[in-house]
Amino acid sequence: MKNRSSYWQLIPFIRPQSATIALAFVCTLFFTTLWPIQAWLAGEMTESIGKGDTNNIARLAGFTAIVFIVKGIVQYGQDSLMAKAALKITLDLRKIVYSHLQKLSLNYFEVAKTGDLTYRLTEDIDRIGEVINQFFHDFVPCILQLIVVLGYMLWLNWQLTTATLVLAPLMAIIIGAFGEKLLLYSRRSQNRISNLSALLTEVLGGIRLVQAFAAENYELERFSSEAEANRQAKYQAEKAKAFQFVVVGFLQVMSVVSIFFLGGWQISQGNLSGKEFVSYLTGVALLIDPISHTTHNYNNFKEGQASADKIFELLAIKPTVIERDNAITLQAISGKVEYNSVSFSYRQDIPVIDNLSLIAQSGETIALVGSSGAGKSTLVNLLPRFYNVDRGSILIDDVDIQDVTLYSLRRQIGIVPQETTLFSGTIAQNIAFGQTNFELKDLETAAKIANAHQFISELSQGYYTYVGERGVNLSGGQRQRIAIARAILFDPRILILDEATSALDSESEALVQEALARIMQERTVFVIAHRLATVRRADRILVLEKGRIIESGNHQELCSKNGAYASFYARQFQGV
Ligand code: ADP
Repeated sequence: MKNRSSYWQLIPFIRPQSATIALAFVCTLFFTTLWPIQAWLAGEMTESIGKGDTNNIARLAGFTAIVFIVKGIVQYGQDSLMAKAALKITLDLRKIVYSHLQKLSLNYFEVAKTGDLTYRLTEDIDRIGEVINQFFHDFVPCILQLIVVLGYMLWLNWQLTTATLVLAPLMAIIIGAFGEKLLLYSRRSQNRISNLSALLTEVLGGIRLVQAFAAENYELERFSSEAEANRQAKYQAEKAKAFQFVVVGFLQVMSVVSIFFLGGWQISQGNLSGKEFVSYLTGVALLIDPISHTTHNYNNFKEGQASADKIFELLAIKPTVIERDNAITLQAISGKVEYNSVSFSYRQDIPVIDNLSLIAQSGETIALVGSSGAGKSTLVNLLPRFYNVDRGSILIDDVDIQDVTLYSLRRQIGIVPQETTLFSGTIAQNIAFGQTNFELKDLETAAKIANAHQFISELSQGYYTYVGERGVNLSGGQRQRIAIARAILFDPRILILDEATSALDSESEALVQEALARIMQERTVFVIAHRLATVRRADRILVLEKGRIIESGNHQELCSKNGAYASFYARQFQGV
């Protein structure tokens, strides 16, 4: 039942195109009425040829030409209008799925496979578009043709037609049985392709690692076995399809043979004239195409259903981080941040932040230190609401972040991550990232503060230099400085910095540190610190362990305490 419903869910997407579809349908109706006319013409023509009535032959030939011209025109109308509607529906669906995907919370992307999602947005949606196109442009006209031509044949000679139709239910049962099998095979094969695409994304993303560990053969084997499974699933589906065509084709031939037999018998009984039999046979010939199209369409619909299921399954997933209906806009803030008895866990029963409270005054720099897994990243990720707190609350300027719009909240927070992701586009686009209303001079100002202006100016096309998909042509330090420029362009009051652990060459390091020092001034800063200079500069250091603050104070105070920080410091920072 669930499977059946996924096509129904397409109706809201089809509705906006109803005018275009209706117009296409008018063309279809015209097109359909021409079918029995063709059968009638064939009978008339045979009779006139038999009689040698050249005048009538000429008249009928002229009429046939007109019929085919009209047929061409309405067929063009039907095809182009339906293609237009189907492509628009595909576009709408793709945009909706994409925007839905972007709204999903981070915990979804932690489990979803990128390749699989890519496949859904491309192949699956294309397939649904094709199905919609086929339904209106092929399936509905075929059914209409079947009805009209069959009606004409019944009118011509109902006994013969009824006998012909005996084989039809048999065909329907066989087609139906194949359809179920095909759906099963098609689901299997699509899942396999998704897996393959996910595997590919994973390996290409980590190609450096694969090469570094000389794991090419291991990866090749993984890839080959996935590709082989994919081949098998597809081959099974293709075999089932081929077999179905053979069986249906055989049944069609048997129908024709029996018609000749029955037609001959009816003529011998004087129930049918030769002209009528020709017209009737033309009708039968005209049925073959729509029948085979309907079979073909039916298979495609079954295959498409697997895609529609996957798309609507995705659309049904609700983001976990959502705005309240009456969410307010967080106005310009001074930058005071307060965590009130906050608890959070990714999975139930394993607390990652444990009843933690802290107040960061506006303009204060707080360095977070602690062993890996202590909860430092999680703590700062709760501030822009990448995740919701389980208990407690987080306030910015005394306003609960749950009460404000995500946009206004996130616009006040700048983030410089450990690893900078550069998107394909120019450097200017990468700094402005998502905003189009910036002037070059704004970007330059941000880049100057981030110590990035100089190296950008030295590039062949300056700010308009194109950065590859992964920004391979920039060094680690340069990328970090672009990330810093990106974060300060909005002049956020709150900054979250996750210092890179990887070492940069000393010149880059100095430039990055200088830029960071500059942007930390007069802002509230949470920095996950990996550098001695950073902890020294911080107003306050919080030492985290198992989601709790176990020590707090500045560098001098904590060193003299000789507690957790002192031993951590000895381990981590000595000699850095
Ligand atoms: P830190 O930044 O101090 O190294 P994290 O905040 O990254 O610590 O991680 C704290 C704990 O939460 C770790 O045990 C880590 O395994 C777990 N964790 C982090 N991110 C996730 C996630 N997305 N899903 C599940 N567990 C996570």
